[in-house]
Amino acid sequence: MTADEDLPIIALDIDGVLSPILKNEDWEGENAYRWEKLANRTHPFDAERNHSPWIKTDCMDAYVAEPVADFLRDVACRRRARIMWHSTWGKRAKAFEKALNLPSFEVLYNTYSRPFREDRWEKLVDIEALLERGHRVIWLDDHITPESVPQHVLDNLDLLCIAPGPGDEVGLTPNHLYLIDRQLKVWGF
Ligand SMILES: [Mg+2]
Repeated sequence: MTADEDLPIIALDIDGVLSPILKNEDWEGENAYRWEKLANRTHPFDAERNHSPWIKTDCMDAYVAEPVADFLRDVACRRRARIMWHSTWGKRAKAFEKALNLPSFEVLYNTYSRPFREDRWEKLVDIEALLERGHRVIWLDDHITPESVPQHVLDNLDLLCIAPGPGDEVGLTPNHLYLIDRQLKVWGF
């Protein structure tokens, strides 16, 4: 069995990634159904039943697309990756585990435990430290841009960056989950 230390790491932001500001159409009807089929889900989302794909959590009344929660739970439980909260929502991140029936994730970034520094993006510092230690990383954050992340980091083959957006209204879409799934397969997980 692969040691936890050797699993790829998924650095998971909340605002604009796990939870979009608006419920977007990417998870409605045919789009969601297409993803479910693509991923060979055991309980395919049934567009015919008019089942809402959105879970309303009691964490800041945030919405999360149910297939996104299902995907993350599946990745964690099948030990395809180590998922780590990487969010300025700090300790509230842990409340999403209960709301979404997720296993416990480590916390990679917590603004309550670190002083804010304007001259550097702490999240980028975290990711660079993981890469330096030889980890493969999937970084999910809506603030990743060519301006916020240097080109040599974006070019690192041990890193897949996914920035849902533009803005924090979109969140992860079926296509993003497909890219994450494919990258894990490329890495042998
Ligand atoms: Mg964000």
